[in-house]
Amino acid sequence: MCSPNIGKPQSNQPTLSLKGIVVMEVFFLVLIMTGLIVALILVCIREIKLTPEQRARRTLRRLKARGSHNYGSNSPAMICPHCQTKGTVRTEWITQKKGISGGKATSAILTGGLSLLATGLSRKEDHIEAHCNNCGMTWVI
Ligand SMILES: [Zn+2]
Repeated sequence: MCSPNIGKPQSNQPTLSLKGIVVMEVFFLVLIMTGLIVALILVCIREIKLTPEQRARRTLRRLKARGSHNYGSNSPAMICPHCQTKGTVRTEWITQKKGISGGKATSAILTGGLSLLATGLSRKEDHIEAHCNNCGMTWVI
């Protein structure tokens, strides 16, 4: 008797182990992806928890580290309140986005959302940011 299977390797075994490897790879890939997604969510949560001031300060710090933030134009008349040097202060208008405040949220609940329609969820606040080239201090006016 000549079986047609003779001479051929048992095709089931290598296919199964190959499948096993693929399954393992997919499993690890899913594991890594899940880890990445969890990390991303954690970063997002941390981002949400930041107050607008903290976020602005951090953005500022990043910009400063990159050296692209030049603090606007020089104000020759300004005297630095930190080192009392005249003419080294640079000023720039900055807009800080303010999120919904606790007080606003409470009043929204009390008025059934009417106050929110009037004031909006987030407001933008304009500030002058000043930076002294002499002592390196940065402050918001
Ligand atoms: Zn100064």
